[in-house]
Amino acid sequence: MARDTKRTRVALITGGNRGLGLETGRQLTRRGWRVVLACRDPDKGREAAAAIGGEARVLDLAKATTATALAAALEADELALDVLVDNAAISLRGFDARVAEKTIAVNLLGTLAVTGALAPRIRDGGAIVMVSSGLGELSALREPARGRVAAAASRAEVERLGYEFVAGVAERRHEAAGWPSSAYAVSKALLNAATRVLARDLGPRLRVNAVCPGWVRTDLGGPRAPRDVGEGAASIVATVLEERATGGFFRDGRAIPW
Ligand code: NDP
Repeated sequence: MARDTKRTRVALITGGNRGLGLETGRQLTRRGWRVVLACRDPDKGREAAAAIGGEARVLDLAKATTATALAAALEADELALDVLVDNAAISLRGFDARVAEKTIAVNLLGTLAVTGALAPRIRDGGAIVMVSSGLGELSALREPARGRVAAAASRAEVERLGYEFVAGVAERRHEAAGWPSSAYAVSKALLNAATRVLARDLGPRLRVNAVCPGWVRTDLGGPRAPRDVGEGAASIVATVLEERATGGFFRDGRAIPW
């Protein structure tokens, strides 16, 4: 309907106060979208929102109650989303059981909790965009972990694989199970598995895709990355604007292997 195409579209971006999340918000605002930056620090959120003409809400992926509170606040404000961009993530230095646990808690379990809480607030025909990484490609894993991640058929199974990885690291047997010694890569491989599961479970009402922004100069990507934040965010925006695909993994608007 003509009237529907003129409606202002709404995107909520997690981790929107800096880096790729903020720049994705900026690019969508320029395209006329209403942008909600979900940030764990309210002051940083307000400052970022003011910089791009968006609005800020509080969300901490490490605190599940903030996800349910955010969903309740959106409902109370009668604010429906067109796209949820699951962008927030951490990449910690070093590799040990603590790093594995924290990384899986935020990048995988926190993201899935937020997605579960906010999915009912997304309009029919809307989408979820998981900001993932080429480092999470299945080729980063060896058997048997690789086959198990590829075959994961439910959110519970994906989460269980995350817990198994953390336990494996603590007991120094993760490599024998086929996991790499990179909590970040495992968190993104499991996020990709969750993308495939959610695309099936939430479709046809919602579409769910993963996107890799490329290696980008942000706090997370570091100063040696070849891409600037504008290029990286453009890759995310291309997937936000993708209106047909579901269950795919994209970089710069083109499908890439899982
Ligand atoms: P940054 O480190 O620049 O920004 C990360 C954002 O996530 C910040 O806004 C941060 O908030 C937020 N965040 C971290 N922990 C939490 C939490 N517990 N709750 C809520 N928000 C949190 O990273 P990038 O912009 O580079 O990365 C954005 C996404 O892109 C990530 O998913 C990353 O994995 C992915 N990516 C990045 C690449 C790169 O080269 N940069 C390459 C491939 C993928 P705060 O300021 O409060 O810490």
